[in-house]
Amino acid sequence: MILPLGPEKLAARFESVFGAAPDGVWQAPGRVNLIGEHTDYNEGFVLPFAIDRTARVAVRVRPDAALRMLSTFGNQGLTRADADALDPSTARGWTKYPLGVVWALQQRGLAVPGLDLLLDSDVPRGAGLSSSHAIECAVISALNELMSAGLGAEDMVLATQRAENDFVGAPTGIMDQSASLRGTAGSAVFLDCRDQGVRLVPFDAAGAGLVLLVIDTKVSHSHADSGYASRRASCELGAELLGVRALRDIAPADLPEAAGFLDPVTFRRVRHVVTENERVLQTVELLDAAGPRAIGPLLNASHASMRDDFEISCAELDLAVDAARSGGAIGARMTGGGFGGSAIALAPMESERQVRAAVENAFFRAGHAAPDIFSMRPAAGAMRLA
Ligand code: ADP
Ligand code: MG
Repeated sequence: MILPLGPEKLAARFESVFGAAPDGVWQAPGRVNLIGEHTDYNEGFVLPFAIDRTARVAVRVRPDAALRMLSTFGNQGLTRADADALDPSTARGWTKYPLGVVWALQQRGLAVPGLDLLLDSDVPRGAGLSSSHAIECAVISALNELMSAGLGAEDMVLATQRAENDFVGAPTGIMDQSASLRGTAGSAVFLDCRDQGVRLVPFDAAGAGLVLLVIDTKVSHSHADSGYASRRASCELGAELLGVRALRDIAPADLPEAAGFLDPVTFRRVRHVVTENERVLQTVELLDAAGPRAIGPLLNASHASMRDDFEISCAELDLAVDAARSGGAIGARMTGGGFGGSAIALAPMESERQVRAAVENAFFRAGHAAPDIFSMRPAAGAMRLA
């Protein structure tokens, strides 16, 4: 477990590195996606929440165009760049995330000053909890205020997407930063990826006597990138053959007819997206009407759909999900892009230990590396700390 530096300690560390106090300290969280997988780029629905693991940045505006950045993580030393000479070919290392935000703001016509920046984060890296967007959202929150740029949440969502897509080079959607910027304690963020429509939906697992566990399998299969790209391509093909702008426009009742237009593989890809969108809507309805205990079967159905129709699960994720359920979870599913990464499990508090033990034992017996298991609950979105 990484212990986060509080804002005072971070500011003190900043001062010892850069020789002056920061102008302020901002933080932004990672996120967990409760349900709605591979629906974002199909202009559909997702239901993530901001977590109580955050990236924090201490930032000072400089009188020149120099960008100097340091992370408390690893021994990577100070990175230097020039705010007037950024382009995507210069992106490397962790600084591509803050630099991508600077670049994306420049693409909007904003003059970004030079900066000193110190990053500290306790969002686990590469675990499907979006440590990258936590950094970007903390940085854009800081710059928005320091530059008096007046960006609203929607603008910041699009700018961080631009940073990831066109500077970092990761084809991500708008889910992660929407959760990080707009999340609140006790709520999940019901997001319509077509128009950025947002509604906060109460998700108080603890109040319902439940825990939400994130099981990081710590595996990342080598075909994750190509698998993601080919699933996206299948969805685009399906939408084109069905004559709609995006799969969002296909309803479950249209599926029998759609089967006649599509080859069997494309049909199954389409069926996942269409039914997953429906499951997000049902989850929201159930959370509103009955609370978190009611959503277990939808989590289970989501996993089955990703395993069988979208074919993005893997042995470790299936094992995590099955073992969590055998240990007493009322619902479990893989979360994130697939081919590795994390699963989530919703379990009664009194079963938490059995669920953890069931997963750990199953991984041990199968010869897999021990997974990391975190308990997560909805927490506040991006904010200024000092
Ligand atoms: P995810 O967003 O799912 O965690 P990514 O691959 O998108 O996975 O982002 C992980 C990357 O973010 C790391 O490889 C690293 O470059 C960067 N990163 C995350 N946290 C930190 C940190 N505390 N210090 C430096 N870099 C970090
Ligand atoms: Mg990421």
